[in-house]
Amino acid sequence: MQGVVLKPGHQLALEEVPKPQLDGPGQMLVRVTTSAICGSDLHIKYGEIPISPGTVIGHEFAGVVEETAPDVKCFKPGDRVVVAAGLWCGYCPSCMRGEVQTCHVGGVWGGGMFQGRPLSGAQTEYVAVPNADMCAVPIPDNVSDEQAILVGDVFSTGFHAIQQGGVGPGDTVAVFGCGPIGLAAVASAQLFGPSRVYALDMVPKRLELAAVLGAEPIDVSQGSPVTRILAETDMRGVDVAVEAAGLPESFSQALSSLRRGGMLSVVGLFAKSVELPLPLLGLYGVRISMGLADLGNMGALMSLLANGKVDLSGLVTHTFPLAEAMEAYDLFENHKDQCIKVMLKP
Ligand SMILES: [Zn+2]
Ligand SMILES: [Zn+2]
Repeated sequence: MQGVVLKPGHQLALEEVPKPQLDGPGQMLVRVTTSAICGSDLHIKYGEIPISPGTVIGHEFAGVVEETAPDVKCFKPGDRVVVAAGLWCGYCPSCMRGEVQTCHVGGVWGGGMFQGRPLSGAQTEYVAVPNADMCAVPIPDNVSDEQAILVGDVFSTGFHAIQQGGVGPGDTVAVFGCGPIGLAAVASAQLFGPSRVYALDMVPKRLELAAVLGAEPIDVSQGSPVTRILAETDMRGVDVAVEAAGLPESFSQALSSLRRGGMLSVVGLFAKSVELPLPLLGLYGVRISMGLADLGNMGALMSLLANGKVDLSGLVTHTFPLAEAMEAYDLFENHKDQCIKVMLKP
């Protein structure tokens, strides 16, 4: 079968890779019907997330169950499923606290480890899923692969940004960066009854989509975003700022846009360190929260999609056959055609 493989020298290639086989309890074999390219795949390509060359990459996928180990209870061959971007065990101290994203033996597909074994990635044709009952959810008939796949990472992360930010009724929220996760955060914010949600980016299509999802768009290329947000909030600043761009500049702008005692919720993936103005933050009592998404929410988020409470269909802008994965990466990496989320179909 074909898979997108990390090569030395910051390269990716579509290569022939071995088809996985079930070799233990709790596993199921999933025939991938859709996988997605994620911003973190580029961090992997450029060594900012170090993994071994030769690894199949990709951690966002939906598919059809092909085979299950005898002890798998929740799934059977033929079921459509989406699998979490990272796996967890369910019984370590973190999992027992309900914080599956910090599972002591967990890891992300395509370079991570689960229970001491490497996890080969999902930009390919088949994936063997360990701990399947816990780390996958069924896809309802009325939810497309392209929507369902977002539950495994993008929607969960956007939702997590809002939840860890503590957004409540009447709050003002500013989302910095309207890539897939920022847009998912904009959509998720609406579930918590905010009074205003501002969405900041400079790509027109992303700002348009943020507006469709209920935000007031602010084009950061048209003057200081901090000045704009302060002007919009009677110089108070917003209650919650979400950093979803992973850039030192937007991190600093998000901090400066907060009210005193406000909360900065960081979900952007940073390639390098940023400086914190601790004297000012201490004085103003600003709080910062960060970390990976709680993928234990996947089932609830799937229900929101299935019942039409959230519509993220606008995020998926391009779909390529897996055979054209390198063309898909070129489009995604070089921000061609105002792409947002790019899917691969084996
Ligand atoms: Zn991802
Ligand atoms: Zn665990």
